[in-house]
Amino acid sequence: MPPLTRPDNPGLISLPPRTAQLAAETDVLVVGGGPAGLGAALGAANAGAGVILTERYGFLGGNATAALVMPLMSFHTQSLRREKKGATTLLPTDHGPGEPVVAGALTTLLERLVREGGALSPSLQTGYVVPFDPEVFKLVALDLLDEAGVRFLFHAFASDIISDHGVREVVFETKSGPIVIRARVVIDCTGDGDMAARAGAPYEIGREDDGLVQPMTLMFRLTEFDHTEFAAYVKQHPDQWRGVHGLWDLIRKAAADGQLQLPREDMLFFATPHEREVSVNSTRVTRVLGTDVWDLSYAEWASRRQMRQIGAFLKRYVPGFERAYVVQSGVNIGVRETRRILGDYQITVEDILQARKFPDVIARSTYPVDIHNPEGSGTLLKRLPPGEAYDIPLRCLLARDVEDVLVAGRCISGTHEAHSSYRVMPVSMATGQAAGVCAALAARLGKPPRAVPVSDVQTELTRQGANLRGTQ
Ligand SMILES: Cc1cc2nc3c(=O)[nH]c(=O)nc-3n(C[C@H](O)[C@H](O)[C@H](O)COP(=O)(O)OP(=O)(O)OC[C@H]3O[C@@H](n4cnc5c(N)ncnc54)[C@H](O)[C@@H]3O)c2cc1C
Repeated sequence: MPPLTRPDNPGLISLPPRTAQLAAETDVLVVGGGPAGLGAALGAANAGAGVILTERYGFLGGNATAALVMPLMSFHTQSLRREKKGATTLLPTDHGPGEPVVAGALTTLLERLVREGGALSPSLQTGYVVPFDPEVFKLVALDLLDEAGVRFLFHAFASDIISDHGVREVVFETKSGPIVIRARVVIDCTGDGDMAARAGAPYEIGREDDGLVQPMTLMFRLTEFDHTEFAAYVKQHPDQWRGVHGLWDLIRKAAADGQLQLPREDMLFFATPHEREVSVNSTRVTRVLGTDVWDLSYAEWASRRQMRQIGAFLKRYVPGFERAYVVQSGVNIGVRETRRILGDYQITVEDILQARKFPDVIARSTYPVDIHNPEGSGTLLKRLPPGEAYDIPLRCLLARDVEDVLVAGRCISGTHEAHSSYRVMPVSMATGQAAGVCAALAARLGKPPRAVPVSDVQTELTRQGANLRGTQ
């Protein structure tokens, strides 16, 4: 049976009024423990604020761990070198060896991950992406928050935000009933902009003409993969694999055999730090929205069936996968795109492709515009000029019409096309760190984030190791 669908004319039920426990008060409250939330909590704590981070799950990492999204995409400028046909690295071969434009909290995380054997350093060999182990990621993220003195609460789903005499109160649904945490400044790192939207900030969703968003993908890890056998196949069929994706002929054959029905034309998978493992990014569910419970239920239902088909296809048709099996799938399907909260500035695709610079830069990115087709197969890729990076201004984190709420990560202010670039995890972490610093300074000054001088945010970010290209 398919899952419940949205009722046509739902009756409305009034709920009884309720009270909640006031659980804690803090300078800065970070809602969401993904890459942006980690950056925000570390940025705010290192700037001297009292910080609480809350998360709906029982672990940190967001998409990196819950949705098994791997690897961390490149944050290095691109060279003129392009991928070689038939390369079998299972990692992109067209990045670097340029300048890393994200540092700060990301560098701290990466150094710790590598030291604990949970990631490979970005290098020519990794295609300047960072393959990592999600279980090590969860532990390292916890350690970093502990060391920074961040308090946290897990299993707490933020459902509402209220304003009370200059402080913000966020309501959480928990097993202990509703609780409230009071904060001078709230940073929305939910990916979906849940808090900013509840607070009244305007937002956009999807493409300008039809509102469609990028598809969802359930990611999964396959183990007992034989890289040598796969490489031999690719050597014999160099037109069938391009760095991280391909197998067009085998997919067509499996489809003709009635073994595979997928809304994408190729397989996309990545190496991980484990030799006999790949991370598969090949399921696709279109015309669904990650802020809609009906769509989410349908997407989980459909993508888990696709995962089963893909696992069977790889095993039966693709050399190197004969003994491979699915060892883990995401706790939830990966959601690429939902609300883009409108801020004091909306970053555009032109800003990205022209590598635009802003005086109020708080983060930088080199990642291309990368749009998985919202309607079906195909992916659109538009790169920055070689050696270039674009700036993200602080104004993209300042939600319009709302004081005391900052946004970070994939819900910051930008257009649909621009979002496809700045949403990647290293950049989400960088905008998170910037929001954390701005929130900490706002709490210290007793002013709204908008009133914090951007030069103070930049100075503190630079002190924390962020790479803002010599703005100081
Ligand atoms: C299929 C897929 C493939 C991708 N591939 C890559 C890739 O290879 N490399 C890369 O760098 N990026 C990739 N991305 C993009 C990247 O994963 C995200 O854009 C990035 O994780 C955004 O970070 P975030 O912290 O803003 O949000 P998230 O990672 O989504 O974290 C949000 C956190 O908030 C929590 N949360 C949400 N709502 C609430 C609430 N109401 N109350 C409490 N907690 C809440 C969530 O549980 C989660 O922990 C991919 C994304 C997808 C979906």
